[in-house]
Amino acid sequence: ISSVELTQTFLDRIKGLNPKLNAFITIDENKSLAQAKAADALIASGKAGPLTGIPVAQKDIFCAEGWLSTCGSKMLHNFVSPYDAHVIEQFNRSGAVNLGKTNMDEFAMGSSNETSYFGKVKNPWDLDAVPGGSSGGSAAAVAARLCPAATGTDTGGSIRQPAALNGITGIKPTYGVVSRYGMIAFASSLDQGGPMAKSAEDCALLLNVMAGFDARDSTSLEREKEDYGRDLDQPLKGLRIGLPKEYFAAGLSADVAQAIEAALAEYRKLGAQTVDISLPNSKLAVPVYYVLAPAEASSNLARFDGVRYGYRAPEYTDLADMYGKTRAQGFGAEVKRRIMIGTYVLSAGYYDAYYLKAQKLRRLIAQDFTNAFAQCDMIMGPTSPTTAFNLGEKSDDPVSMYLSDIYTIAVNLAGLPGMSIPAGFGANGRPVGLQIIGNYFSEAKMLNVAHQYQ
Ligand code: GLN
Repeated sequence: ISSVELTQTFLDRIKGLNPKLNAFITIDENKSLAQAKAADALIASGKAGPLTGIPVAQKDIFCAEGWLSTCGSKMLHNFVSPYDAHVIEQFNRSGAVNLGKTNMDEFAMGSSNETSYFGKVKNPWDLDAVPGGSSGGSAAAVAARLCPAATGTDTGGSIRQPAALNGITGIKPTYGVVSRYGMIAFASSLDQGGPMAKSAEDCALLLNVMAGFDARDSTSLEREKEDYGRDLDQPLKGLRIGLPKEYFAAGLSADVAQAIEAALAEYRKLGAQTVDISLPNSKLAVPVYYVLAPAEASSNLARFDGVRYGYRAPEYTDLADMYGKTRAQGFGAEVKRRIMIGTYVLSAGYYDAYYLKAQKLRRLIAQDFTNAFAQCDMIMGPTSPTTAFNLGEKSDDPVSMYLSDIYTIAVNLAGLPGMSIPAGFGANGRPVGLQIIGNYFSEAKMLNVAHQYQ
């Protein structure tokens, strides 16, 4: 099958199903097919790589030249990017086809994909359920087979939680492995891009393209290129899996716990052993995150002022009024909430009590993991405390929404890699995700651990 045929097949499927799911914000048949045609020529000339001609959907947080790049916000509803993010550049270089831009929570703030200016995304397993967020469009698109693979970003769980809720595989790499250049910033010290696909094997192929040093991101790590799929077939005999008691405590729903136990039993059959560990500062992760992430967001989002690009209020009296009206009209409620929290915790009178304190606690949370990895090779637990909840169920209760990332957020605070793989179903028939947390730069091992189970 040619890339043009393959791309057309997915485009047709998107046309048929996207009106129901709303997983894509933008599709552009001509652009995608032109890339597919170029890929076919590359294949014919014998110069194809593993992803040449493969359609990949891109989260709308990644700037792509000539493509609408909205970040799910009215603020950027008309923004056509003049340049490519590093990640997009890498995919283009590999010959992959950009299949379209996927829906997401506004500026990646959310856990249910209900805050997008372009409307809610629905979970293909059950149209009454949320797909998770913020990479909910990418997760729903992969789960409904609207694309073979997609990109996501994860600041506090936004690759892993939607992967879990849609029964797919997603990996957030070690902070610094994937360049953030051209990835619209939410909380820069936490944001990290990564792949979302059906399997660990597919994620490895994507990560090989996405990872790599980029001088345009000052936190990009200069490391030797590695093949993330090199260890997929290694046996797991002797693997020590740490089970943090805090991740199996009150708050975890019984059906998710049961599915996770079943997955762990499989791992024992594969020769792994489980050890009980503790991450004593776990309970601090959500509160620390909701000081630090909004603080960084309030600074990052200051650039959206209506002057250079994006939305501008149609009527205003002077410059200050234009700023005020543009931001009042251009940002949604959740984004405004974060900006207000962020400016508050950074303000002169409260900086020490909130921001500085949270920075110190962040270090303790990271230290918990360092201590844990002295006792085990991998950490496992649930990705999310429940299966997908219903649309609307948590939209009026931000704190309960924030708690759906209770097991994922600490990983971002520590800068560690984390992934979610499908592990059966809950009582309501909705997917459960098993979270795998590895030590720094253990992505290849994590993909191996995931692949052996899959
Ligand atoms: N749900 C979390 C938040 O709303 C995490 C989002 C993310 O990882 N982008 O901030």
